[in-house]
Amino acid sequence: MERQVRVEVLKEIPVLDHGFVKLVDFMGGDMAVVQAARVSFGKGVTEPERDRKLLEFLLANRHETPFEHALFKFHIKCPIFVARQWFRHRIASYNEISGRYATMKEEFCLPEALRTQKAKNYKYETMVEPDNSQLKEKISLFYQKAYELYQELLEKGVAREHARIVLPLSLYTQFYWTINSRAMMNFLSLRLDDHAQGEIRQYAEAIGGIFAEYMPWTSSAFNRFVVLGEKWAD
Ligand SMILES: Cc1cc2nc3c(=O)[nH]c(=O)nc-3n(C[C@H](O)[C@H](O)[C@H](O)COP(=O)(O)OP(=O)(O)OC[C@H]3O[C@@H](n4cnc5c(N)ncnc54)[C@H](O)[C@@H]3O)c2cc1C
Repeated sequence: MERQVRVEVLKEIPVLDHGFVKLVDFMGGDMAVVQAARVSFGKGVTEPERDRKLLEFLLANRHETPFEHALFKFHIKCPIFVARQWFRHRIASYNEISGRYATMKEEFCLPEALRTQKAKNYKYETMVEPDNSQLKEKISLFYQKAYELYQELLEKGVAREHARIVLPLSLYTQFYWTINSRAMMNFLSLRLDDHAQGEIRQYAEAIGGIFAEYMPWTSSAFNRFVVLGEKWAD
């Protein structure tokens, strides 16, 4: 029998200049959370109103293990400097493209507007023109030179694992990321926050949108009880 792996893109959101968030698989959902919680009583789902109330109770009172039964599998493309922050989130599974086995593409992240070091409460200012355009032009030339050198090293027989050392952190990488909804809420609470770097925040916003679409009850309870800090009222 022919063996096949089905990779269906359920949702795709472009992020930054060359990146994306693609949802490629999903398991469970709000009802899987309810069902996992009710197994304690040997019961399953009941009426929608009671089910939703139970789910909200769980999240508001930090009974979070039932949320581990809903899983999202993403294909992510982001710059390496974003991936370095992303990979700190240990409660997830990762598989990344290898610069040892694949030739890296000429795709670098160039922010639309450079931020200045001046910031108040993590709200950064934007570099004024014409400095912004002039510096971006220089960065762009640097990327071009770096990639030319990468190609030259490869052509001269240098191994991919060594040639890649000339490529900057702005280079795009790709990885699969499988995460349960509990760990995803932890990711979102940290990376949607104002303290997070703007670039990873854009990815978090895309993921937050997919979360809201696929787990509307959990996403709305997350906003109320985690993001806004609402207290549970009996
Ligand atoms: C704005 C911002 C700035 C940051 N700056 C820095 C920085 O300057 N330097 C730096 O090194 N990191 C920095 N980080 C990364 C940060 O310290 C965390 O590594 C990252 O946010 C992942 O969070 P996490 O551990 O909660 O997630 P996960 O690794 O996904 O873990 C999820 C949860 O599982 C539990 N857990 C996982 N592993 C353990 C463990 N070993 N022991 C006990 N409990 C565990 C914890 O409850 C944890 O919250 C920054 C993060 C943010 C959001």
